[in-house]
Amino acid sequence: MSELRHGQASTRFIERCLRQSPGRLTGLLLGQLDAFNRLAATFGADVSARFCSGYVEGLRRVLPPGASIIRLGNRRFIALLPADTIGAIMDAAAQLVEDERAHVKIDEDEFVVDLTLGVAVYPTHAEDAERLVRRAELALTEARESEVPIGMYTPDSTRRQAALWKLESDLERAIQHRDIEVHFQPKIELADFRVRGFEALARWRTRSGAFVSPEMFVPLAERCGAIVPLTWLVFERVRESLSAWAGHEGSLTLAVNVAPHALKHPLFFDRLGTLHDELRAAGIGLTVELTEESLVCADAASKACLERVRKLGVGLSIDDFGRGYSSLAYLKEIPATEVKIDRRFVSTAAIDEKDRQVVRVIVELARAFGMSAVAEGVDSDAALRAVASLGCDTAQGFFIARSMRADLAARWLRGPSCEAIRVAASAGAEQPASV
Ligand code: C2E
Ligand code: CA
Ligand code: CA
Repeated sequence: MSELRHGQASTRFIERCLRQSPGRLTGLLLGQLDAFNRLAATFGADVSARFCSGYVEGLRRVLPPGASIIRLGNRRFIALLPADTIGAIMDAAAQLVEDERAHVKIDEDEFVVDLTLGVAVYPTHAEDAERLVRRAELALTEARESEVPIGMYTPDSTRRQAALWKLESDLERAIQHRDIEVHFQPKIELADFRVRGFEALARWRTRSGAFVSPEMFVPLAERCGAIVPLTWLVFERVRESLSAWAGHEGSLTLAVNVAPHALKHPLFFDRLGTLHDELRAAGIGLTVELTEESLVCADAASKACLERVRKLGVGLSIDDFGRGYSSLAYLKEIPATEVKIDRRFVSTAAIDEKDRQVVRVIVELARAFGMSAVAEGVDSDAALRAVASLGCDTAQGFFIARSMRADLAARWLRGPSCEAIRVAASAGAEQPASV
């Protein structure tokens, strides 16, 4: 097996392999093992790295004779596959992703190691190694985004990637020019239907006036490094919203979303401290929301940051709880104050018994760890009643209100909206078939 790092040397090696079979096709399969994070969260980075490297070593047995493998770090590899037809290359790719050994049994737990492959074919898609690798990389990105195991390069991939790069540079410019707004979505206490606080959510409208979803631009910002300046800008916008909340009588807490990269940035505590001090002076609390996905993989440095967040008196919320991460081991090491139950369970809790059970178990888990349970994605009166009856402390969702500009959110806070929600929920509660 060829043990090469991706770079000049591996490009030269690929180039040589391509020239070795004149008149034939060569499939370049760029593979990524997706179990790495989950395995690392459960068994530690060493076990995970050992498994991934053993897995790649073993691929030789599955691949047809004449294939070469290049390992690229812990969880990526390139397989080069001479073949007569594109169909034969795709058959071999399918065999790889269906490989038996992708099931790992450690103690009683069985893990499926998801392998995603991006495929580009020489000379059909590119006539030199460098371009071929880039095109396989595009195919891999697209496969991962569409959540399919194998992606084949098409010229469209290049066009889509170019559009993405344009969006990336537009986003960087928008952040530089402070063209990002922050809207606020209320969270209500289920015991008395009072507003407990708001979550700050970034909003970006491009110069053409098109609205881009944060589901799209936040991951883009994470990929291109713009997440740190975006986070500082959101903090600033939250500080600017302070005047809107002035005069509110009850207690309020504002929540900000923080990506792992921003948490570990050297300026994080400086920026968070400034925000926290200003909010505290106005009698407003602060919570940091981090996704479960990022907490599962938190290393010692991140955990130390989380302790520091708590020491400041800032709340810590585990966002999107239940979205795909099976390990709960990390929970005992995270000083969280709140769990936000992922909206995919909440929105259907009223109609699906299994989702209702999931919510019930998460609420019990939150109690056991001394955390409060927030139901997010409450988009109907039935969902509101379901999460209230299951013991959630707080609810957030379109049924209560969508996110709003700070001035409109403050006006909403002063209006009768909460009373209307309370009436709607209790009126519905009298209809026996609803929950
Ligand atoms: P999230 O933190 O889970 O935020 C809640 C998302 O759920 C928001 O989407 C909100 O509009 C949406 N939502 C609220 N109620 C409902 C409901 O009843 N039904 C449905 N279907 N959706 C509901 P949004 O604003 O599009 O944000 C998406 C994600 O983008 C956020 O998910 C968060 O992960 C990320 N994000 C947004 N702003 C920021 C930010 O300032 N910093 C970081 N790091 N991430 C952010
Ligand atoms: Ca959030
Ligand atoms: Ca969430």
